[in-house]
Amino acid sequence: MTPAILPGQPQLAYRDDELFLEGVRLADLARSHGTPLYVYSKGAMLAALAAYQRGFQGRKALICYAMKANSSLAVLQVFAQAGCGFDIVSGGELLRVIAAGGDCAKVIFSGVGKTRAEMRQALEAGIACFNVESEAELEVLNDVALSMGQRAQVSIRVNPNVDPQTHPYISTGLKGSKFGVAHERVLQTYRRAAALPGLRVVGIDCHIGSQITQELPYLDAVDRMLDLVQDIEAAGIALQHIDFGGGLGIDYNADTPPAADTLWTHLLARLDARGFGDRQFMVEPGRSLVGNAGVCLTEVLYLKPGEEKNFCIIDAAMNDLPRPAMYQAYHAIIPLSSNAPAPVASWDVVGPVCESGDWIGHDRELAVQAGDLLAVLSAGAYCMSMASNYNTRGRAAEVLVHEDRSSLVRARETAQTCFAGEILPAS
Ligand SMILES: *Cc1c(COP(=O)(O)O)cnc(C)c1O
Repeated sequence: MTPAILPGQPQLAYRDDELFLEGVRLADLARSHGTPLYVYSKGAMLAALAAYQRGFQGRKALICYAMKANSSLAVLQVFAQAGCGFDIVSGGELLRVIAAGGDCAKVIFSGVGKTRAEMRQALEAGIACFNVESEAELEVLNDVALSMGQRAQVSIRVNPNVDPQTHPYISTGLKGSKFGVAHERVLQTYRRAAALPGLRVVGIDCHIGSQITQELPYLDAVDRMLDLVQDIEAAGIALQHIDFGGGLGIDYNADTPPAADTLWTHLLARLDARGFGDRQFMVEPGRSLVGNAGVCLTEVLYLKPGEEKNFCIIDAAMNDLPRPAMYQAYHAIIPLSSNAPAPVASWDVVGPVCESGDWIGHDRELAVQAGDLLAVLSAGAYCMSMASNYNTRGRAAEVLVHEDRSSLVRARETAQTCFAGEILPAS
């Protein structure tokens, strides 16, 4: 049974009953590298990026990949070589940008809890901008910059408070969110920033949520942002750039988010209409650049049919694929070989971890038997980057494919690496 449509993954297709990502047969990778195994398509990442680039054609725009979605060095290298900047949320992520050959001058630093040490590190590296999330953070950043004889370039992350009733997917741009500066405090925060000698105000930013599949919240956010820009500039504080954050959704399960180029064509029309079309723009896409570029390959260990439920126990688990346990998220699961002899049945696909929350998919129609290989789809974003060593399971290996070539880009962790930093006290 060949699924008619593979959600949003144009580089993934069955050829003669075997699943390929670009020109690489996935079963070959599973056999040579073992499972669970993450496989990413460079072509799919570049195609996702190209949609943003088309949307911003002829504009001044910097695409900063929100690397928390997938911070593997090989993935970062793909985006660095394509000219992207990076949106980071820790000093560790900055070190990854440098290790992958990224340009620190195109790095913006988001997050509500930057430490002094991270600020110092980012100033030394010469990043483009700190996206400051509170008044308290402004004071600390000013202090750190002055102590280094520098001026930190700042943007204030504002909370546009887009109406939650009509846009239920939005979770970070609401009143009551820990993120950003409340709409009504934005002007006074900018005044304070402009008065601090260790800071240079360069922009404004927002990020209204994730897995957004409608255009309307973005249009609302654009309008709210431009209202603020007008107020701030009327107060004599010039803004060089406007950063609209990330959040564009992907197709996990018949989701229909707008394409990035369509979305941005529409948003830029609104920006043009309001006279802001020639500004320097930034965006911080994460999921939409990598989510549907990756799959997680796994082997069926055991079938455990039961009276109420049939369980299909696989060798990938919540430590590898945390999104179902964390968000009750859906990932499509399909066989690597589409001409399986087993009868189709309904299975709960679960991992070996000792938690009832360790499930990958509920009630999936699959023709499976022990030893079969499966692919968990849409696994390029917020999977490996959130993976853990729970149950002393080493994290999976990763492979990058392009056309008919494949490269191992992360070695599988061993149990020893899981406890390498642990110390037995002298008794
Ligand atoms: C997580 C995050 C992003 C990326 O969000 P996606 O939904 O993956 O596009 C962008 N900006 C900020 C500040 C974030 O925290």
